[in-house]
Amino acid sequence: MQEILVEAKNLKKHFHSNSFFSRRDKAVHAVDGISFSIPRGETFGLVGESGCGKSTTGRLLLRLLEPTAGEAFFRGRSIFDLGKKELQKLRREMQVIFQDPFSSLNMRMNVGDIISEPLEIHGIGGKRERKEKVSELMKLVGLSPGHAGRFPHEFSGGQRQRVGIARALALNPLFIVADEPVSSLDVSMRAQILNLMKDLQERLGLTYLFIAHDLSTVRFLCDSVAVMYLGKIVEMGPNECIFKAPRHPYTQTLLAAVTIPDPEIKRSRIMLSGEMPSPTDPPPGCRFHTRCPHAADQCKTIEPELKDVGNGHMVSCHLAW
Ligand code: SF4
Repeated sequence: MQEILVEAKNLKKHFHSNSFFSRRDKAVHAVDGISFSIPRGETFGLVGESGCGKSTTGRLLLRLLEPTAGEAFFRGRSIFDLGKKELQKLRREMQVIFQDPFSSLNMRMNVGDIISEPLEIHGIGGKRERKEKVSELMKLVGLSPGHAGRFPHEFSGGQRQRVGIARALALNPLFIVADEPVSSLDVSMRAQILNLMKDLQERLGLTYLFIAHDLSTVRFLCDSVAVMYLGKIVEMGPNECIFKAPRHPYTQTLLAAVTIPDPEIKRSRIMLSGEMPSPTDPPPGCRFHTRCPHAADQCKTIEPELKDVGNGHMVSCHLAW
Protein backbone atom coordinates (compact mmCIF):
# COMPACT_ATOMS: atom_id res chain seq x y z
CA MET A 1 0.00 0.00 0.00
CA GLN A 2 1.17 3.52 -0.83
CA GLU A 3 2.47 5.50 2.15
CA ILE A 4 0.38 8.55 3.13
CA LEU A 5 2.96 11.29 3.52
CA VAL A 6 0.75 14.20 4.56
CA GLU A 7 -2.68 14.18 6.12
CA ALA A 8 -5.03 16.92 7.34
CA LYS A 9 -7.95 16.07 9.64
CA ASN A 10 -10.72 18.58 10.23
CA LEU A 11 -8.17 21.40 10.03
CA LYS A 12 -9.37 24.89 10.97
CA LYS A 13 -7.79 28.30 11.03
CA HIS A 14 -9.78 31.32 12.15
CA PHE A 15 -8.07 34.72 12.30
CA HIS A 16 -9.44 37.11 14.90
CA SER A 17 -9.45 40.81 14.20
CA ASN A 18 -10.42 43.37 16.77
CA SER A 19 -11.30 46.29 14.56
CA PHE A 20 -11.16 49.79 16.05
CA PHE A 21 -14.45 50.54 14.27
CA SER A 22 -16.27 47.41 15.41
CA ARG A 23 -17.13 46.29 18.92
CA ARG A 24 -17.56 42.72 17.83
CA ASP A 25 -14.53 40.42 17.65
CA LYS A 26 -14.87 39.11 14.12
CA ALA A 27 -13.20 35.86 13.13
CA VAL A 28 -12.14 35.26 9.55
CA HIS A 29 -12.94 31.61 8.81
CA ALA A 30 -9.96 31.12 6.50
CA VAL A 31 -9.90 27.32 6.75
CA ASP A 32 -12.98 25.73 8.24
CA GLY A 33 -12.68 22.00 8.81
CA ILE A 34 -10.92 20.37 5.89
CA SER A 35 -9.57 16.83 5.61
CA PHE A 36 -7.43 15.23 2.91
CA SER A 37 -4.40 12.99 2.49
CA ILE A 38 -1.47 13.04 0.06
CA PRO A 39 0.20 9.74 -0.87
CA ARG A 40 4.00 9.79 -1.18
CA GLY A 41 5.27 10.72 -4.64
CA GLU A 42 1.98 12.29 -5.75
CA THR A 43 0.78 15.84 -6.39
CA PHE A 44 -2.33 17.12 -4.63
CA GLY A 45 -3.86 20.28 -6.08
CA LEU A 46 -5.76 22.86 -4.03
CA VAL A 47 -7.78 25.24 -6.19
CA GLY A 48 -10.26 28.04 -5.69
CA GLU A 49 -10.67 31.79 -5.92
CA SER A 50 -8.38 34.08 -4.00
CA GLY A 51 -9.35 34.15 -0.31
CA CYS A 52 -10.76 30.60 -0.27
CA GLY A 53 -8.14 29.41 2.25
CA LYS A 54 -5.77 27.42 0.02
CA SER A 55 -2.57 29.32 0.91
CA THR A 56 -3.49 29.27 4.62
CA THR A 57 -3.79 25.48 4.33
CA GLY A 58 -0.26 25.29 2.90
CA ARG A 59 1.09 27.46 5.70
CA LEU A 60 -0.63 25.29 8.32
CA LEU A 61 0.95 22.13 6.90
CA LEU A 62 4.38 23.80 7.03
CA ARG A 63 3.55 24.89 10.57
CA LEU A 64 4.12 28.51 9.73
CA LEU A 65 0.71 28.97 11.38
CA GLU A 66 -0.84 27.29 14.40
CA PRO A 67 -4.32 25.83 13.82
CA THR A 68 -7.53 26.87 15.58
CA ALA A 69 -8.57 23.21 15.62
CA GLY A 70 -7.90 19.92 13.90
CA GLU A 71 -4.78 17.91 13.19
CA ALA A 72 -2.14 17.47 10.51
CA PHE A 73 0.32 14.59 10.15
CA PHE A 74 3.60 14.13 8.31
CA ARG A 75 4.62 10.49 7.94
CA GLY A 76 2.10 9.65 10.67
CA ARG A 77 3.46 12.16 13.21
CA SER A 78 1.38 15.07 14.43
CA ILE A 79 2.88 18.27 12.99
CA PHE A 80 1.42 20.49 15.71
CA ASP A 81 2.74 18.39 18.62
CA LEU A 82 6.40 18.63 17.63
CA GLY A 83 8.91 20.31 19.96
CA LYS A 84 11.46 22.88 18.77
CA LYS A 85 14.15 20.33 17.82
CA GLU A 86 11.75 17.99 16.05
CA LEU A 87 10.23 20.94 14.22
CA GLN A 88 13.66 21.99 12.97
CA LYS A 89 14.14 18.46 11.60
CA LEU A 90 10.72 18.61 9.99
CA ARG A 91 11.62 21.90 8.30
CA ARG A 92 14.35 20.05 6.38
CA GLU A 93 11.83 17.61 4.99
CA MET A 94 9.17 20.19 4.06
CA GLN A 95 9.95 23.13 1.82
CA VAL A 96 8.07 25.84 -0.06
CA ILE A 97 8.18 27.39 -3.52
CA PHE A 98 6.61 30.85 -3.58
CA GLN A 99 4.53 32.58 -6.23
CA ASP A 100 6.73 35.57 -6.88
CA PRO A 101 10.43 34.71 -7.06
CA PHE A 102 11.26 38.42 -7.30
CA SER A 103 9.95 39.21 -3.83
CA SER A 104 10.80 35.85 -2.23
CA LEU A 105 14.53 36.01 -3.12
CA ASN A 106 16.92 38.36 -1.33
CA MET A 107 17.98 40.76 -4.10
CA ARG A 108 21.18 41.69 -2.26
CA MET A 109 22.50 38.12 -2.25
CA ASN A 110 23.95 36.33 -5.25
CA VAL A 111 22.11 33.17 -6.29
CA GLY A 112 24.91 30.90 -5.02
CA ASP A 113 24.44 32.32 -1.51
CA ILE A 114 20.65 32.21 -1.84
CA ILE A 115 20.71 28.50 -2.73
CA SER A 116 23.28 27.56 -0.07
CA GLU A 117 21.65 29.59 2.73
CA PRO A 118 19.40 26.70 3.97
CA LEU A 119 22.52 24.46 4.19
CA GLU A 120 24.26 27.11 6.26
CA ILE A 121 21.24 27.62 8.55
CA HIS A 122 21.06 23.88 9.22
CA GLY A 123 24.87 23.57 9.59
CA ILE A 124 25.26 21.16 6.67
CA GLY A 125 28.68 20.77 5.05
CA GLY A 126 31.71 23.04 4.91
CA LYS A 127 32.24 25.88 2.43
CA ARG A 128 33.54 23.55 -0.30
CA GLU A 129 30.76 20.97 0.04
CA ARG A 130 28.15 23.73 -0.04
CA LYS A 131 29.71 25.18 -3.20
CA GLU A 132 29.62 21.74 -4.83
CA LYS A 133 26.01 21.25 -3.75
CA VAL A 134 25.03 24.65 -5.23
CA SER A 135 26.60 23.65 -8.60
CA GLU A 136 24.76 20.32 -8.50
CA LEU A 137 21.42 22.00 -7.70
CA MET A 138 21.85 24.67 -10.37
CA LYS A 139 22.49 21.97 -12.98
CA LEU A 140 19.50 20.00 -11.71
CA VAL A 141 17.12 22.93 -12.30
CA GLY A 142 18.62 23.88 -15.67
CA LEU A 143 20.82 26.81 -14.62
CA SER A 144 24.50 27.25 -15.39
CA PRO A 145 26.65 26.83 -12.24
CA GLY A 146 28.90 29.52 -13.73
CA HIS A 147 26.15 32.04 -12.98
CA ALA A 148 26.20 31.42 -9.20
CA GLY A 149 27.84 34.81 -8.63
CA ARG A 150 25.04 36.70 -10.38
CA PHE A 151 22.22 38.50 -8.61
CA PRO A 152 18.48 37.74 -9.00
CA HIS A 153 17.80 40.87 -11.10
CA GLU A 154 20.23 39.53 -13.74
CA PHE A 155 17.91 36.55 -14.41
CA SER A 156 14.55 36.26 -16.19
CA GLY A 157 11.36 35.50 -14.22
CA GLY A 158 11.52 31.80 -15.17
CA GLN A 159 15.20 31.57 -14.20
CA ARG A 160 14.46 33.23 -10.86
CA GLN A 161 11.78 30.62 -10.20
CA ARG A 162 14.40 27.95 -10.99
CA VAL A 163 16.61 29.56 -8.31
CA GLY A 164 13.67 29.33 -5.88
CA ILE A 165 13.23 25.65 -6.73
CA ALA A 166 16.98 24.94 -6.32
CA ARG A 167 16.86 26.60 -2.90
CA ALA A 168 13.80 24.52 -1.93
CA LEU A 169 15.68 21.34 -2.95
CA ALA A 170 18.90 22.17 -1.06
CA LEU A 171 17.93 20.14 2.03
CA ASN A 172 16.66 17.10 0.04
CA PRO A 173 13.03 17.52 1.15
CA LEU A 174 10.32 14.90 0.75
CA PHE A 175 7.42 17.35 0.57
CA ILE A 176 7.10 20.70 -1.19
CA VAL A 177 4.29 23.23 -0.89
CA ALA A 178 4.21 25.04 -4.23
CA ASP A 179 2.11 28.16 -3.65
CA GLU A 180 1.03 29.48 -7.08
CA PRO A 181 4.55 28.82 -8.43
CA VAL A 182 3.79 29.79 -12.03
CA SER A 183 1.10 32.47 -11.61
CA SER A 184 3.51 35.37 -12.08
CA LEU A 185 5.16 33.88 -15.21
CA ASP A 186 4.20 34.20 -18.85
CA VAL A 187 2.68 31.19 -20.64
CA SER A 188 5.88 29.77 -22.20
CA MET A 189 7.77 30.02 -18.89
CA ARG A 190 4.86 28.38 -17.08
CA ALA A 191 5.10 25.28 -19.23
CA GLN A 192 8.86 25.06 -18.65
CA ILE A 193 8.57 25.35 -14.87
CA LEU A 194 5.69 22.83 -14.71
CA ASN A 195 7.72 20.37 -16.82
CA LEU A 196 10.71 20.92 -14.53
CA MET A 197 8.56 20.23 -11.45
CA LYS A 198 7.22 17.04 -13.02
CA ASP A 199 10.71 15.90 -14.00
CA LEU A 200 12.10 16.61 -10.51
CA GLN A 201 9.22 14.69 -8.96
CA GLU A 202 10.07 11.60 -11.03
CA ARG A 203 13.80 11.86 -10.37
CA LEU A 204 13.67 12.70 -6.67
CA GLY A 205 10.37 11.09 -5.60
CA LEU A 206 8.96 14.41 -4.40
CA THR A 207 5.44 14.91 -3.06
CA TYR A 208 3.77 18.24 -3.87
CA LEU A 209 0.91 20.29 -2.51
CA PHE A 210 0.23 22.44 -5.56
CA ILE A 211 -1.80 25.57 -4.80
CA ALA A 212 -3.30 27.37 -7.79
CA HIS A 213 -6.29 29.24 -9.12
CA ASP A 214 -5.52 28.21 -12.71
CA LEU A 215 -7.22 24.88 -13.40
CA SER A 216 -5.24 24.12 -16.57
CA THR A 217 -1.96 23.96 -14.60
CA VAL A 218 -3.63 21.80 -11.94
CA ARG A 219 -4.91 19.39 -14.58
CA PHE A 220 -1.42 19.02 -16.03
CA LEU A 221 0.42 18.38 -12.78
CA CYS A 222 -1.93 16.92 -10.16
CA ASP A 223 -2.91 13.32 -9.41
CA SER A 224 -5.82 14.45 -7.26
CA VAL A 225 -7.53 17.77 -6.69
CA ALA A 226 -9.55 19.52 -3.98
CA VAL A 227 -11.70 22.55 -4.84
CA MET A 228 -12.07 25.04 -1.99
CA TYR A 229 -14.77 27.63 -1.44
CA LEU A 230 -14.90 29.93 1.59
CA GLY A 231 -12.63 27.75 3.73
CA LYS A 232 -14.29 24.42 2.88
CA ILE A 233 -13.53 21.65 0.39
CA VAL A 234 -16.58 21.38 -1.88
CA GLU A 235 -15.29 18.71 -4.26
CA MET A 236 -12.27 16.41 -4.18
CA GLY A 237 -11.08 13.39 -6.07
CA PRO A 238 -8.79 11.95 -8.73
CA ASN A 239 -7.82 14.36 -11.53
CA GLU A 240 -9.97 12.49 -14.09
CA CYS A 241 -13.15 12.78 -11.99
CA ILE A 242 -12.75 16.49 -11.31
CA PHE A 243 -11.93 17.49 -14.88
CA LYS A 244 -14.09 15.05 -16.87
CA ALA A 245 -17.11 14.74 -14.59
CA PRO A 246 -17.28 17.62 -12.09
CA ARG A 247 -20.37 17.29 -9.87
CA HIS A 248 -20.32 20.48 -7.80
CA PRO A 249 -21.80 23.61 -9.43
CA TYR A 250 -18.83 25.68 -8.21
CA THR A 251 -16.29 23.35 -9.87
CA GLN A 252 -18.41 23.42 -13.03
CA THR A 253 -18.32 27.23 -13.12
CA LEU A 254 -14.55 27.30 -12.57
CA LEU A 255 -14.07 24.82 -15.42
CA ALA A 256 -16.41 26.75 -17.69
CA ALA A 257 -14.06 29.71 -17.39
CA VAL A 258 -10.90 27.97 -18.63
CA THR A 259 -9.80 26.57 -21.96
CA ILE A 260 -8.89 22.92 -21.65
CA PRO A 261 -8.10 21.34 -25.03
CA ASP A 262 -9.83 18.00 -24.51
CA PRO A 263 -12.90 17.04 -26.61
CA GLU A 264 -13.93 14.52 -23.92
CA ILE A 265 -14.55 17.31 -21.45
CA LYS A 266 -18.13 18.54 -21.58
CA ARG A 267 -18.41 22.18 -20.63
CA SER A 268 -21.07 23.51 -18.32
CA ARG A 269 -22.64 26.80 -19.35
CA ILE A 270 -23.10 27.94 -15.73
CA MET A 271 -21.58 31.34 -15.10
CA LEU A 272 -20.51 32.51 -11.67
CA SER A 273 -22.41 35.57 -10.50
CA GLY A 274 -21.90 37.89 -7.57
CA GLU A 275 -19.05 38.27 -5.15
CA MET A 276 -17.72 35.63 -2.79
CA PRO A 277 -19.34 36.34 0.63
CA SER A 278 -17.10 37.57 3.42
CA PRO A 279 -15.23 34.81 5.28
CA THR A 280 -16.02 36.70 8.50
CA ASP A 281 -19.69 35.98 7.96
CA PRO A 282 -20.07 32.83 5.85
CA PRO A 283 -23.67 32.09 4.75
CA PRO A 284 -25.60 29.37 6.62
CA GLY A 285 -26.41 26.07 4.92
CA CYS A 286 -24.36 25.55 1.77
CA ARG A 287 -21.78 28.33 1.61
CA PHE A 288 -22.18 28.51 -2.16
CA HIS A 289 -25.97 29.05 -2.09
CA THR A 290 -25.76 32.83 -2.57
CA ARG A 291 -24.15 32.28 -6.00
CA CYS A 292 -25.45 28.88 -7.02
CA PRO A 293 -27.92 28.76 -9.96
CA HIS A 294 -29.42 25.51 -8.57
CA ALA A 295 -29.92 26.66 -4.97
CA ALA A 296 -33.11 25.30 -3.37
CA ASP A 297 -34.65 26.08 0.01
CA GLN A 298 -32.78 23.30 1.84
CA CYS A 299 -29.46 24.75 0.57
CA LYS A 300 -30.05 27.91 2.61
CA THR A 301 -30.33 26.06 5.93
CA ILE A 302 -28.78 22.58 5.68
CA GLU A 303 -25.06 22.31 5.15
CA PRO A 304 -24.29 19.49 2.67
CA GLU A 305 -21.74 16.93 3.81
CA LEU A 306 -18.71 16.02 1.71
CA LYS A 307 -19.74 12.54 0.55
CA ASP A 308 -18.18 9.91 -1.71
CA VAL A 309 -20.16 9.57 -4.95
CA GLY A 310 -17.92 6.72 -6.16
CA ASN A 311 -14.24 5.98 -6.81
CA GLY A 312 -13.07 8.40 -4.13
CA HIS A 313 -14.88 11.32 -5.80
CA MET A 314 -16.19 13.46 -2.91
CA VAL A 315 -18.85 16.13 -3.40
CA SER A 316 -20.55 18.51 -0.99
CA CYS A 317 -23.86 19.32 -2.70
CA HIS A 318 -27.46 18.25 -2.01
CA LEU A 319 -27.97 17.64 -5.73
CA ALA A 320 -24.97 15.37 -6.20
CA TRP A 321 -26.17 12.28 -4.34
FE1 SF4 B 1 -25.93 24.68 -5.07
FE2 SF4 B 1 -27.48 23.64 -3.16
FE3 SF4 B 1 -25.54 22.18 -4.23
FE4 SF4 B 1 -24.98 24.24 -2.63
S1 SF4 B 1 -26.04 22.35 -2.06
S2 SF4 B 1 -23.96 23.75 -4.54
S3 SF4 B 1 -26.55 25.69 -3.20
S4 SF4 B 1 -27.36 22.97 -5.28
